[in-house]
Amino acid sequence: VIPEKRVAHWSYATCAYCSTGCSIELGLDSSGKVITSRGNAKADVNRGKLCIKGLLEHELFDSKGRGSEPLIRQHHHEPFAPASWQQAMDKTATAIKTIQEKHGRDAFAVVSTGQLLTEEFYTLGKLVRGCIGTNNYDGNTTLCMASAVSGYKRSFGSDGAPGCYDDFDKTDCLMAFGSNLPEQHPVIYWRLKEAREKRPFPLIVVDPRVTMFAQMADIHLAVTPGTDCVLINAMMYVIFDENLADTAFIEQHTKGLSELTKIIEDYNPKLAQKVCGIDEDTIRSVARLYAKAATAMSIWTMGINQSTHGSDGVVNINNLNLITGNIGKPGGTSLSITGQCNAMGTREWSSCSGLPGYRALENPEHRQQVADFWGITPDFFPEKRGLTETDIFPAIETGEIKGLWLVATNPMTSMPNTSRIRKALEKLDFLVVQDSYSDVETNQYAHVYLPAAIWAEKEGCFTNTERRINLTRKSVPNYANSQSDFWIFTQMAKYFDHGSKIPFPPSPELAFDEMKALSKGSERLLDISGMSYDKIEQATGIQWPCREGETGQARLYTDGHFPTADGKANLIGVSFFDNNEKPDKRYPFWLNSGRVVEHFHTRTRTGKIGNCNKFSPIPYMEMNPDAAKKLGVKHQEYVRLISRRSDAVAMVQLTHRVAPDMVFVPFHFFDCVNRLTLGLLDPHSRQPAFKQCAVRIVPVDQQ
Ligand code: SF4
Repeated sequence: VIPEKRVAHWSYATCAYCSTGCSIELGLDSSGKVITSRGNAKADVNRGKLCIKGLLEHELFDSKGRGSEPLIRQHHHEPFAPASWQQAMDKTATAIKTIQEKHGRDAFAVVSTGQLLTEEFYTLGKLVRGCIGTNNYDGNTTLCMASAVSGYKRSFGSDGAPGCYDDFDKTDCLMAFGSNLPEQHPVIYWRLKEAREKRPFPLIVVDPRVTMFAQMADIHLAVTPGTDCVLINAMMYVIFDENLADTAFIEQHTKGLSELTKIIEDYNPKLAQKVCGIDEDTIRSVARLYAKAATAMSIWTMGINQSTHGSDGVVNINNLNLITGNIGKPGGTSLSITGQCNAMGTREWSSCSGLPGYRALENPEHRQQVADFWGITPDFFPEKRGLTETDIFPAIETGEIKGLWLVATNPMTSMPNTSRIRKALEKLDFLVVQDSYSDVETNQYAHVYLPAAIWAEKEGCFTNTERRINLTRKSVPNYANSQSDFWIFTQMAKYFDHGSKIPFPPSPELAFDEMKALSKGSERLLDISGMSYDKIEQATGIQWPCREGETGQARLYTDGHFPTADGKANLIGVSFFDNNEKPDKRYPFWLNSGRVVEHFHTRTRTGKIGNCNKFSPIPYMEMNPDAAKKLGVKHQEYVRLISRRSDAVAMVQLTHRVAPDMVFVPFHFFDCVNRLTLGLLDPHSRQPAFKQCAVRIVPVDQQ
């Protein structure tokens, strides 16, 4: 604990880990060094609170492993040599152009992240879509939020969470699917807990594991992995059967009812219970509870998204809320709790899956608007989306993609089936890794490493889960010879023909002004034209849409009008299909993975923070004591987990959190759980099913 009296100045920032979007103040001493962090008491999002990651965020600035200078080499098995920025950028631009000239524009791919500032996403999008011109451009958000995006678009016609955290203060019932808020989004959980203390309402948690959140629920539904759609269909069966649906809302604001009910007919709870593992009476009780509540809301996270049914799962949660009239009203909503600090910013502005400001590549008007705005011709843009991150790596294996630029993402730890990722990276003609840390695992395969400044060494915005845009001011100079991602993208643009035609604003704030101009329009949901950096800081964050003269909007679709062709939301029936890898005789355990509160993603940052590491130092495996007894495995012994892909070692933690046929391992650690996971993808979102595969367990001393 640093005494606040040593702080000479507090600088305004937004936490750069999860999507809660906590407002942070960084305390600098009289020499300009950041010495402490505290929650901003004025900010409605966190009301002065921070979790362990936010509280220790000031330790990031000079932490171990920071990249201090650009590095280059001919082959990835050679040692890196230090280089100037000019040399590193020349080498990168030359490699991109050589690959594109030889193999076509799409032979070079770019994968970014949910970690950059929004202005950087916009600038990267401009560089990739407008200058480099590859269509194989994606973000690592495909690993976490793609199913939510896809589901929102299918149901409501647009991405963007319709609700907000204030809905916790207004709701009469909350159902959480595959979300462990106390560990994943601790401050959102604190908001929810505070709301329930003031005004108790039922909390139902759907999760195969007895998570911390499940322990705090009134009702815990330990659903069979991957069968959430069956549970929701059975709930809707009861709601229609017992005339509990909001027929007026359905009639006025939705379409597709008859197709939905036709599918639901097959999900009588008596039959559904055999698939989803929740007994008929409980399904009926929960359905009644949800439908009879004056307002009810659903939240979800990776338990829904990271599945071969991810997009359908989101659509079905939206269906449940639409048929009960719980969209667009205080306390009645469908709120995806998103993953990274700026997963929303990349969805809104990066152009990964389309064009900036939620414009679609498939829409000729949208292509024309952006081309006119940037001063190029629309035929430079592709007419449909290229490959997602999960399809880019297989395309490297087949030789379709020869070069790759990774920005603030670490697929050697984060992607499923990492042995395959390793082989793909080794095959590349050229890999450039841009990251704040040179010791990031994927950098082993890079030909060029570009050291990026972190977070409060830069200035710009993040958008949080509830569409709130908040600001980080530059607090300190860049570390060593690192440069902001914004600078790197604008410099790289100069190497390409269009780079001289398309103006690149010289500062993030001017880029934000450009985004405001591009967002303006009465028909546009994502309108930020009423915002400015100063207004955002004064308000400690503003939610979009925020048109000129407005102060932001807490909820979407409050008038029952949706951004679809006819203004109605889509009810889309979803049928269960069983394509998961499941436990069998040879691989008898479900492998589930997830987060711990101390770490973020692949530990690139939290792995360097003393207390985060001390509290959660090694990969562990939760195992039910009954299952352990049968295998002769004891608490804190090491075991080898073996899947059809590979194997990994973890220390056993005996606990009844997991059923006898399931084990759980945190996903943060290198060379661990994602050596085992399966790369099966959701057909709509291309998001991987990280949470459902089969393993067997062998005590290490028995091999
Ligand atoms: Fe940061 Fe999320 Fe923790 Fe808030 S809850 S301090 S945003 S990691």
